[in-house]
Amino acid sequence: MSEAAGVQVGVPAAALEVVRNVLAFGEADHRSVRLLGGKGAGLARLTAEGLPVPPGFIITTDACRSVTSQGAVPQGLFTEVLEHLRTLERHTGKCFGAGPHPLLLSVRSGAPVSMPGMMDTVLNLGLNRETAVAVAVAGGVRFMADVLVRFHRMYSEIVLGASGDLIAGAAEELTERAPDCPDPAVVYDRLWAACQRALVEEVGEEVPGDPLLQLRGAIEAVFRSWNNRRAVTYRDFHHIPHDLGTAVVVQSMVFGNLGRPSGSGVAFTRNPVTGDPRLYGEYLEGGQGEDVVAGTATPEPIASASLRLPEIFEELSGHCARLEQSHGDVLDIEFTVERGRLYLLQVRSAKRTPEAAIRIAADFLREGRLSPGGPLGAVSAAQVRQLERPQFAAGSAAAARADGRLLTAGVGASPGQVSGTLVLDPDRAAQRAAHGEDVILARPITSPVDLHGMIAARGILTATGGATSHAAVVARALGKPCVVGCGEARIEPDRGRLAVGATVVEEGAPVSIDGLSGELFRGALPMTAPAAASADLGVLLDEADRLAGCRILGRVTTPEQVETVLRRGATGVVTGIDDVLATTGHLEELVAALIEQRELDALDLTRVRAVIAAVFQPLLRAAGDAEVGVRAIDFQADEARELMQQTQLLTHCPQLSVPVGMPALLAAQIAGLAEAAERSGHRGRLHLAVRHVSDPLEARALRELSRQTVDGRVGVGTYLTSPRGGLLSAGIAAASDVVWLEVRLMQAAMFGIPARQLLTSRPLDDYVKRGLIDTDPRLAIDPTLDGILAVVAAAAAEHPRCEVGMRLSGPVSEEIAATLHRTGFRLFAVDGDEVRPARLAFGKAPATGAS
Ligand code: ADP
Ligand code: MG
Repeated sequence: MSEAAGVQVGVPAAALEVVRNVLAFGEADHRSVRLLGGKGAGLARLTAEGLPVPPGFIITTDACRSVTSQGAVPQGLFTEVLEHLRTLERHTGKCFGAGPHPLLLSVRSGAPVSMPGMMDTVLNLGLNRETAVAVAVAGGVRFMADVLVRFHRMYSEIVLGASGDLIAGAAEELTERAPDCPDPAVVYDRLWAACQRALVEEVGEEVPGDPLLQLRGAIEAVFRSWNNRRAVTYRDFHHIPHDLGTAVVVQSMVFGNLGRPSGSGVAFTRNPVTGDPRLYGEYLEGGQGEDVVAGTATPEPIASASLRLPEIFEELSGHCARLEQSHGDVLDIEFTVERGRLYLLQVRSAKRTPEAAIRIAADFLREGRLSPGGPLGAVSAAQVRQLERPQFAAGSAAAARADGRLLTAGVGASPGQVSGTLVLDPDRAAQRAAHGEDVILARPITSPVDLHGMIAARGILTATGGATSHAAVVARALGKPCVVGCGEARIEPDRGRLAVGATVVEEGAPVSIDGLSGELFRGALPMTAPAAASADLGVLLDEADRLAGCRILGRVTTPEQVETVLRRGATGVVTGIDDVLATTGHLEELVAALIEQRELDALDLTRVRAVIAAVFQPLLRAAGDAEVGVRAIDFQADEARELMQQTQLLTHCPQLSVPVGMPALLAAQIAGLAEAAERSGHRGRLHLAVRHVSDPLEARALRELSRQTVDGRVGVGTYLTSPRGGLLSAGIAAASDVVWLEVRLMQAAMFGIPARQLLTSRPLDDYVKRGLIDTDPRLAIDPTLDGILAVVAAAAAEHPRCEVGMRLSGPVSEEIAATLHRTGFRLFAVDGDEVRPARLAFGKAPATGAS
């Protein structure tokens, strides 16, 4: 509809510039969600697509912003509203505030982002004695009484802040008796008076009798509701900006509670729980939409209602199919049937379970449907992760906290949620696990002698230690949920009990831990079983790989993990020699040998080489012809502190605190790997990468070492962890076969905080909440790193012979994936259980980067 159509000849040009705060459904551009709010935009789109929508208009979010910033509605707003009201009257053939065909309105809030149930709606607005009588003539006295009480109650609640229940209570008996009275005006007077009395008693105010004042009051109340406590808290929690404002949708009412067949319902174009492609939803005969949404009555499934009302539901199902096609999304649609006529009242993207999201996206892909966010837009890495890892059932942790089952919280050191039997001793843990029990191993502290118990357990808990303690490092290497530093817990293996304050949990009792939040719960929290990776997920991830064009390697420590990770679609694996030695029980021996040795040059490294050759064989055999990246033992990583008694070791062998400080030990690792590769028949690419390299000269020394030791049969690589390494990456790449940039360590270096703090929820969650940090380095690449990434990307382009990849630890955030993909990186190494989420995240990256 053109703007010019409404402009009369002779109107001064300046009038064209008047900002319009009110737009009819038919003239609003549905793409302006920010201005129209989600609900308004949806109704504008439905109207534009020719679907049956009760007509109405939208007061834009601009008006709300001026209320919140200037404390008043924009000048002329109500004049504009009145003009639209007149148009609405012409359009509907009804009259606002007068009979014989009264126009009743709904006044609804609708923000640009969905805030379900946070703001307010007033229905059936526009009643006075005259219109009430007309309503009674059209629909019966009982209907009029019902509509009147609904209106009074909502208006009192939302505009005047009263408790609606009191009003409904005061009106109940009169409503019941309404049909007995022949004169609707009398019924109206009595009911209205009773409602007003109850209201005055409660809040000392009345509902205005003039419908225009009602309309004004309701509009202002919707604006005010933007800043009610509930809404503000909700926005804080979900990081929604407070200055978006809400739009107000004013719409003519249709009545699901008027005669037969009438009713209201909610339809989903596909099942939001399972993803089943059939229409799904509920219908309440004789109800207004509010009854369905509020859950005050029990509706019937659409499947059964459509048997009784086949024509209506065929029409609905046709609309749903068309809308799904045009929106490219599964939709949640509110509808009302008034005396056999169907109306659509709201449309929005349907919230869905991870299972449904994956099935739906795969079906869309097969059906060749186009979606605005691309074929993967409706699935998140978090949803894939949720399917992969066992987790507490939704809401169960909150319920446990609420009824006092949260015992204490330590440091979340390795993510995942598990429950199992509490066991305080590694031998007993291994025994119970051998009998098929799920065990949570709790120790005051762990050491390598606990290893077999840790391997047997499903989850690990310690009283002392931090995110880089032995327990934490081993748990992460094993991919098991782990909580450390539970200082409040007294873990007493000899007495067979764990106590927090006065609460005692005996060995053998069920407990649950959350390896991200660090919480320890009494009792077994219900779990959602990880769904076996479905064919649908396979379809999506294959598409993701095609779109991303990336190679993803998964981190492993054991041969079994190699198989798992390759099955998940990794193109290869990465591992660390220290991790493999630790989980096979050989690390202690090496550290002891290094410490005991007086003359380091005289150290006999043949034993080291032999052990590496032995423990790497099964791993390389499992890899077959897949690529294997091996990190050399890192003595200075903060993870190493407890794992390798670093303090003592580095005092004794200070040369171990620089990357190429002890070439003989590196040579032993190279030689051991070469031997393992040969004996295992591994045919894929193999390299050894050294961490903390920051200079091209170091890289050259490594290359020379590989040449001397094994004729260059093992490739050499470097892990960059410092800004210097990043800035000098061109020279480093020139001398390396592979260069990895460790994103977490680099981010930590830029912030100057210990890298281990990027692996847990505290203290950064708290920091983000208090607004002390702009970028959460766990979720996004900090802008200070952009320059370094650009240098590394240029180095990669300049040295195509050298592979340049990014090492990501912990959950792969979609935002980080998009940034790295956009910068040009295509090789990634991720934790073993992040292979599938990462494939999805990188598959989405091209679409995200483009927008
Ligand atoms: P919410 O944002 O909480 O979904 P709505 O603005 O959609 O709130 O309104 C709440 C209920 O009122 C909905 O269930 C809807 O069916 C009903 N409703 C809103 N507008 C109308 C209307 N014009 N005619 C009939 N019912 C309506
Ligand atoms: Mg709604």
